[in-house]
Amino acid sequence: TELSRIRNFSIVAHIDHGKSTLADRLIQLTGTVAARDMKEQMLDAMDIERERGITIKANTVRIEYPARDGQTYILNLIDTPGHVDFAYEVSRSMRAVEGSLLVVDASQGVEAQTLANVYQAIDADHEIVPVLNKIDLPAADPERVKAQIEDVIGLDASEAVEISAKSGLGIPEVLEAIVTRLPAPKGDRDAPLKAMLVDSWYDPYLGVVVLIRVMDGIIRKGDRIKMMQTGAVHGIDKLAVLKPQMVDTPELGPGEIGIFTGSIKQVRDTRVGDTITHEKKSCAAPLPGFKPSVPVVFCGLFPVDANDFEGLRDAIEKLALNDASFTHEMETSAALGFGFRCGFLGLLHLEVIRDRLEREYDLDLITTAPSVVYDIHMRDGTVQQLHNPADLPDLTYVEHVEEPRIKATILVPDDYLGDVLKLCQDRRGEQLELTYAGSRAMVVYDLPLNEVVFDFYDRLKSVTKGYASFDYQMIGYREDNLVKMQILVNDEPVDALSMMVHRDRAEARGRMMCEKLKDLIPRHMFKIPVQAAIGGRVIARETIAALRKDVTAKCYGGDVTRKKKLLEKQKAGKKKMRQFGKVEIPQTAFISALKMD
Ligand code: GDP
Ligand code: MG
Repeated sequence: TELSRIRNFSIVAHIDHGKSTLADRLIQLTGTVAARDMKEQMLDAMDIERERGITIKANTVRIEYPARDGQTYILNLIDTPGHVDFAYEVSRSMRAVEGSLLVVDASQGVEAQTLANVYQAIDADHEIVPVLNKIDLPAADPERVKAQIEDVIGLDASEAVEISAKSGLGIPEVLEAIVTRLPAPKGDRDAPLKAMLVDSWYDPYLGVVVLIRVMDGIIRKGDRIKMMQTGAVHGIDKLAVLKPQMVDTPELGPGEIGIFTGSIKQVRDTRVGDTITHEKKSCAAPLPGFKPSVPVVFCGLFPVDANDFEGLRDAIEKLALNDASFTHEMETSAALGFGFRCGFLGLLHLEVIRDRLEREYDLDLITTAPSVVYDIHMRDGTVQQLHNPADLPDLTYVEHVEEPRIKATILVPDDYLGDVLKLCQDRRGEQLELTYAGSRAMVVYDLPLNEVVFDFYDRLKSVTKGYASFDYQMIGYREDNLVKMQILVNDEPVDALSMMVHRDRAEARGRMMCEKLKDLIPRHMFKIPVQAAIGGRVIARETIAALRKDVTAKCYGGDVTRKKKLLEKQKAGKKKMRQFGKVEIPQTAFISALKMD
């Protein structure tokens, strides 16, 4: 295909502003998918994505559009993941296209993720077409929102396209705008092959499928290609475009987007952002800016029922096949038995994986305290990486402990600024910058990652009513006064609740955890002490009083069905309990106890 008749773009939007609905309409109006095969949210394939309304993996569709100028154009839409854990994947997929549609809900206006996402598009040098959606709503105020786009983002919105993705109004104008206002890709057919690895996933029939954007040169079926970062060489077995189902193609040239399969065994053997070239006649230099995504948050996953261990292993191995940034290794815990220590890109990534294990594989799991990776500097000069607080070596051999720190950028409406500053301060943050853009403030903080992995997003969202956007990058390791805090229930340490904390915050944290556990652990027939300790020293303590009466006594004997229901509920609750010595702790206690509020 001629470069002048290709347009590559992505859609950026705040959640719920209509990105998926617009993508559906574009696919539908161009007849890319036959009407009878159309289902809502074509591109959001995974159940969790649909339920949570987030798109995790980038999805892609190629649309053929006969434009008003009489020419047929190829439009490639790459749908980008919308969460900070996947920031690197977003920035990579943005670099695979030349333009963006900026979708803003005309009744809501510019919101937090609008900003975060549009800045990614601006960073990638995109041409941006503002699209005001939901103009069918009585509350829509396109003029106000246009002014906001100009003030806050600094984009010309005078030619914003006004649409209703729901009714289909304005969709033809969006297609025309893509063709007339977004630039065609550039590239050289005669140069050596240079393509970007945008995404990859595991397909049970085809093996690993690799999504690429060709920059220069031509890739053909049967070619032998090389991945420049890993050095791996593969033959191309299948080459196809996504409509969104695969349609074979003999070749892909500059500006084109498509997939290939080779004899690649695991998604782990591919690196998002890697450069693909021919084994012979390679391109001179790889695409700039490659960095591997490494897991930064670790936690233990244990089956509630020890008999589920093999099931958990199978499930984890299956998920890992399709997710290179999710790592796992076997772990044994005195209290929890056999399980896995798993690594994730961030907390959402952790939640998504845990959800999938529980839902798709029907497992009941205990998740231990998420932990970051600490560098333990030993007195003998060596450095150990600590993924699990339970493994902290004897402190007499430890010189000092360093923790990872991040540079966090938060955009927030003025009204909530005070609360955000307080939150960052409470989390041991150091302010780096504070500037204003319109009625929004931008604050930049240097924060310990450890303080962010627990529930920073949740807290930020709740103190700002969802109006803050948050983004971060790792900036390195720094020494601090970090200690291991243990939790003892009925005088027995529960290793799953051990955590690294800053010495100055240990007492407050320990007190809070004991108070929480006091409410989360049901009463037993005996008194249960709950303690937090550093080394051998107890720093906080609560006591769960003994249970006196039979619970069902509350039912006054008469109502048999109620009594039965209560017993059944107790029985169901039991399944989610775990025995620690003589004490049963509900599974939910492990995560709840770690939340700070
Ligand atoms: P996304 O999170 O940006 O992908 O948003 P969705 O496409 O999932 O849309 C979020 C909600 O807004 C859904 O309930 C849609 O039906 C609704 N929606 C999308 N476009 C329109 C529109 O033009 N008008 C109205 N009234 N609702 C819309
Ligand atoms: Mg969506």
